[in-house]
Amino acid sequence: MKREFAVIGLGRFGGSICQALSREGMDVLAIDLNEDRVNEYKNIASHAVIADTTDESTLKELGIKNIDHVIVAIGDNIQASILTTVILADLGVKKITVKANNDYHEKILNKIGAHHVVHPERDMGRRIAHSIISNNILDYLELSEDHSIVEVKAGSKMIGKSLVDLDIRANYGCNVVAIKQGSNINVSPLAEELLKKDDILIVIGADKDISRFEKYLVIDD
Ligand code: ATP
Repeated sequence: MKREFAVIGLGRFGGSICQALSREGMDVLAIDLNEDRVNEYKNIASHAVIADTTDESTLKELGIKNIDHVIVAIGDNIQASILTTVILADLGVKKITVKANNDYHEKILNKIGAHHVVHPERDMGRRIAHSIISNNILDYLELSEDHSIVEVKAGSKMIGKSLVDLDIRANYGCNVVAIKQGSNINVSPLAEELLKKDDILIVIGADKDISRFEKYLVIDD
């Protein structure tokens, strides 16, 4: 069955979600206060309507409670974002994802019934910070407040050594879950296999352990 989505707030973030979902063939109801923004999405989304989502009766009229997943991407107006989320939760929307602007906003959204809170500027900032520490750190994904996955290029201290030699788990407390070589990805790397230049390791662990691993093995002096 085709999934139904609604995107509230058609700024850069909401707009790109709306475009990506529509491109995947999903049924998307695009909503914004601003007529110009709504007009931009008339030919992209399945439906595009001008509405103020802080008004409960408007949301009821739009049949929002029957929509599988509602994404609230109201940017600067934190009050409108909070009020919209409360109403959606009260109406019993099954899945509500909300974009937070800051940690305080995020905390409130979690308390008032958002099922998933995203904080794209903060997360992207952290990912970029990791990748600019070293050319060998390619990507970083936060799993929880203190656990992450990193994608790192084998540093010079690793090349020609095996996972047994490096004993990353015992020495740094993190686990190598996969090794990428070009377009191949090996999800059960052999402990004895020697690491080569350009091998990419995918490592999971606590942030403090990953930091030690990066500092001693990944960042080339
Ligand atoms: P970003 O680019 O980070 O996504 P932005 O600056 O484009 O953010 P805003 O313009 O702050 O985001 O907000 C996104 C959209 O939300 C705007 O187009 C705005 O008109 C819409 N919006 C704000 N309040 C409401 C509301 N009460 N009901 C519906 N839409 C709203």
